[in-house]
Amino acid sequence: MSAFYSVRIDDIPHDGFRLSTQWHAAALEGILTDTEGLFRIASPIELEVQFHLPKPQVVMEGSCAATLELFCVRCLKEFVWPLEARFRYIFWPKSKESPVEEKELGAEDIEVVYYKQGEPVDLRRFIAEQIYLNVPQYPRCQEACKGLCVRCGVNLNEQACSCAESSSLETLSPFSVLKKLKK
Ligand SMILES: [Zn+2]
Ligand SMILES: [Zn+2]
Repeated sequence: MSAFYSVRIDDIPHDGFRLSTQWHAAALEGILTDTEGLFRIASPIELEVQFHLPKPQVVMEGSCAATLELFCVRCLKEFVWPLEARFRYIFWPKSKESPVEEKELGAEDIEVVYYKQGEPVDLRRFIAEQIYLNVPQYPRCQEACKGLCVRCGVNLNEQACSCAESSSLETLSPFSVLKKLKK
């Protein structure tokens, strides 16, 4: 199976072009970097992309979906997170004059990308960008994750510990320390 990673913008027919494909997670190796300890792509990447004309600009819009494994910032546990991103890019040939102001193009969420005419555009770069943009900055395994006990390290989502009961706040206060010193 040969995967479809790049598109020659100039070859897109007048009535547009639709790409519906699936990439192995490994397709983004070397493109998605510095993800160590942050996330892992645990499924193939589903891709739906549509190209519209009119030339010289080409609009690419679509979505990508994959299952990611993230680490909870509270309990440090790995958990599965479904990524779903919708995107829109406008390709504009480098040699041509700048496109109209982005504002005039209608939507603020459109990003203009300049490409060299005649050269293929690697789509992996955009999918990698979408993954970076959509991965939560402070991932939590669940909204109400209880985290780890700061004393015994137990995952409080999985079991209760007796740290909170056995040591009241009093024993932690500076006064209780003083009391102990006096003894
Ligand atoms: Zn958690
Ligand atoms: Zn504890």
